[in-house]
Amino acid sequence: MDIRLLTEVEKQSIGERQPLPDRYLRLSDDEMDERLLAAKRTLGERLVILGHHYQRDEVIKFADFTGDSLKLARAAAARGAAEFIVFCGVHFMAESADILRAPHQKVLLPDLAAGCSMADMAAEDQLEVCWRELRALGVDVDRIVPVTYINSSAAIKAFVGEHGGVVCTSTNAAAVMSWAFERGERLLMLPDQHLGRNTGYRLGIPLDRMAVWDPHEIDGGLTAADAQNARLLLWKGHCSVHTRFTVQQIQAFRKKHPEGKVIAHPECTFDVVQAADLAGSTEFIIDTLRKSPAGSVWAVATEIHLVNRLMRELAPDRTIVTLDPFGCLCSTMFRVSPNHLLWVLDGLVEGTLHNQIIVPDETKRWAKLALDRMLEIR
Ligand code: SF4
Repeated sequence: MDIRLLTEVEKQSIGERQPLPDRYLRLSDDEMDERLLAAKRTLGERLVILGHHYQRDEVIKFADFTGDSLKLARAAAARGAAEFIVFCGVHFMAESADILRAPHQKVLLPDLAAGCSMADMAAEDQLEVCWRELRALGVDVDRIVPVTYINSSAAIKAFVGEHGGVVCTSTNAAAVMSWAFERGERLLMLPDQHLGRNTGYRLGIPLDRMAVWDPHEIDGGLTAADAQNARLLLWKGHCSVHTRFTVQQIQAFRKKHPEGKVIAHPECTFDVVQAADLAGSTEFIIDTLRKSPAGSVWAVATEIHLVNRLMRELAPDRTIVTLDPFGCLCSTMFRVSPNHLLWVLDGLVEGTLHNQIIVPDETKRWAKLALDRMLEIR
């Protein structure tokens, strides 16, 4: 097992994890709901609660806005009156909100242990080594445009911003990668190899002009010829939720529902995306299903909480099932519980900030540049 020590930037932004006090562990559901509503009422316009699509129902019902990570970070910045942004999502999302927030706003994450396994697969020091090793392999790094998925740490976004690169989301990945190809000879896409491969292929990059960079191998596991041949270098990272979907599951669904359609998130593997009828971001999935004709049948390859919510919302007109019969749960997102949310809100009522996310100024400056470049791309 690889053990990686946190960098100073990561330590500062993660902060000290405080344990949830015992008194928040023994509340009934009704008591929890009443106290959460009361705290929300007390804080009024000073508070905005953001809930990511993959968040559990007991939490998301208290959200003022729901959406994907970027939509939520923007919603927070637009809600100028709110002094406190409580982000019910994972760590990198709260960091993005802190980067984009107005100066008077503060961002809190109910449980600091709510991380993202994909974001953790790319560390700043590994990226610095990658850059050095690519140069040693004969690649002109000045002509590489680094592109990072928004599911990455602030430190990775800062490196990318400082090296002329840009952030992307699953919604705009194709437009952002096209922008980057206009500016460089090759791209380094991180941390999700699958989003990179699926999008690069859509843009016409053949698979044999892509190479996977493994940060745990010397020279990323590549020869000089491999590295120089690649137009698209893919960081070896993945989402542990979306890579659980398989082509066999698609075949089983089609056998049972020959008229049904499969829609997959682009964090799924290349084979799954190729076998699916449609692929796109969470917002694309929601929009497509809502607009689909009555009577249609869908298998959805994304996180189970979103699938269940769509299933309830669109039944009985449409049949919606998860592609994985056991359902794929984002366990780190699940760490944000109503108990943690109540503890954080009670703290605000009492004038105490629990679990504030603070991205250091220098990191924020470069990370914001990478985010701003993305926001300018249409
Ligand atoms: S679903 Fe995957 S990429 Fe999204 S937060 Fe969970 S682990 Fe990270």
